[in-house]
Amino acid sequence: MGAVIGIDLGTTNSEVAVIRDGRPEIIPVDGEPIMPSCVGLDSRGELLVGRVAKNQMAAAPESTILSIKRKMGQTERVAMGDRFFSPEEIASLILASLKTAAEAHLGETVTEAVITVPAYFDDAQRKATQNAGQLAGLDVRRIINEPTAAALAYDADQTSDRTVLVYDLGGGTFDASLVVVQDGVVEVKSSHGDTHLGGDDFDHLLMEHVDRIFFEQHAVHPLADLKAKNRLWAAVEKAKRELSDVPYTRIREEYLIGDLHLDVEIERSAYEDMIRPLLRKTMDSVHRCFKDALMLPGALDKVILVGGASRTPLVAELVKKEINIEPRHEIHPDLIVAMGAAIQAAVIQGQKTKSILVDITPYTFGTGAVGVYNGQLHEDVFVPMIHRGTALPARKGKRFSTMHDGQEAVDVRIYQGEAPLAEDNIFIGNFLVEGLSDVPAGNEIVLTLALDLNGVLEVTAAEKRTGLSKTVTMKTGDGTAAFDLEQAREHLGDWIETESESAGPAPSVDAADEKEQVMAAAKALRKRSTALLNDIDATDASELRALLADSQKAIAEGRYQKLAELNESLSDMLFYLED
Ligand code: AMP
Repeated sequence: MGAVIGIDLGTTNSEVAVIRDGRPEIIPVDGEPIMPSCVGLDSRGELLVGRVAKNQMAAAPESTILSIKRKMGQTERVAMGDRFFSPEEIASLILASLKTAAEAHLGETVTEAVITVPAYFDDAQRKATQNAGQLAGLDVRRIINEPTAAALAYDADQTSDRTVLVYDLGGGTFDASLVVVQDGVVEVKSSHGDTHLGGDDFDHLLMEHVDRIFFEQHAVHPLADLKAKNRLWAAVEKAKRELSDVPYTRIREEYLIGDLHLDVEIERSAYEDMIRPLLRKTMDSVHRCFKDALMLPGALDKVILVGGASRTPLVAELVKKEINIEPRHEIHPDLIVAMGAAIQAAVIQGQKTKSILVDITPYTFGTGAVGVYNGQLHEDVFVPMIHRGTALPARKGKRFSTMHDGQEAVDVRIYQGEAPLAEDNIFIGNFLVEGLSDVPAGNEIVLTLALDLNGVLEVTAAEKRTGLSKTVTMKTGDGTAAFDLEQAREHLGDWIETESESAGPAPSVDAADEKEQVMAAAKALRKRSTALLNDIDATDASELRALLADSQKAIAEGRYQKLAELNESLSDMLFYLED
């Protein structure tokens, strides 16, 4: 098997890494460790990706696209020059560049990758990321959460158990996650964040500030002019980075509009006052993480800062003040995530590493059914099935009954959210199960939701008495299902290599991957079983204890085939006990 690369596909910047001789190695792109996540067309219509595209941002904003990650999972196409592209297509051009850099660096063809996404990315966003990878000629072996990757990068070599807060503030997204590393298993206990909060927002606040000053001086708003706005953005972004190291900085731009020059001094403390409310929001997410994980900040061993914007000194200051732990700075905050992705990629390749990954779903998934709401019968009450915070992979079944005599079909509707009425949650998808038996009302339908390690949802509805069933991989409501790989390939033409099709469909799961999945499933099942022990009758409890003991033994002896069988038995028991 060739190298599997780890990719941090960031809003502002992207990085690619690989494990060589047991160590994570950042692969340079155009000689730099960080590649701007920027795509553009030059004046001749030639494709530009990375630094060169970013360089033309101010001069040719209409032909340059930045922050495409914010649009992942949406159907709206973006304009680049006089052509329109899907977010997947633009992201695939970034991924293809990283792939090419990796191939040049490693001297071999690369067809497989692990890609990271914010913990808060929903199903549509994760699928769009996977589609982009495939379009770039990469078989995306795993999508993992960025904070999880960060914890892996910091902890891959350590043996003691610990609890880590990962505070990840990038260009466009924020995530806080509590990660527990126990017996070599990395588990995200809770995760909160905001897919629309990051360093870009700090830039916008600074831009508005400078725009106001410029207007007072010249009665013109630079923000009203696209070219001036983009020059201003580049200038304030540079100033913002400088303010991480110095108390004052100057922003000078000659001929910003016509013959008007910009010359403004910014003080760090004034800048900090601007961004404080946003950082306050990030700390609220941190506190929600503790609450969700039923943990106090005192239980923490370590705080890891991730993402370029976490270099803002006020971040470490606030974290220290509220959590009382000095954040760690040993690894470059921009590179941690790609390194963690590379570590996970190495696990997939079967290389020895000490950590196994367990992820959780940050969302609750369920269905709508007739039920009681506010003391009254309501026809569409939300029935949660896989709860937020459940370790992945997760599988959960529930029995439902038909309402009418001779009912021939049921409409299975799946939602994501926490609201008590189904319609107030995000509609994920629906399907009809037809041809049910002609029997009185009360015909039992078993609905099963399965979320895999990539957060992809598979829904099965089965008529219990006949076994008639239908399984659907849920497309999200916003149309990512409409993604057509061939059409996108045609649209991008020469910009991507078509022989990459050899990446083909997902290969069979290799041994290391399978082992990892069996372990992760065992851990999740054991946890759910242990939580039930006190609430079930003595016979069930004794049966469950016996299974738990056998499963513990199989783990200790490294007998994964046996463990997989025991997982099945535990899962079957839980199916009935958890109802
Ligand atoms: P990332 O998405 O992790 O690449 O982070 C990019 C964001 O970090 C952008 O908003 C950058 O402007 C910001 N950034 C990079 N370096 C610094 C720095 N030294 N101080 C403050 N923000 C920074």
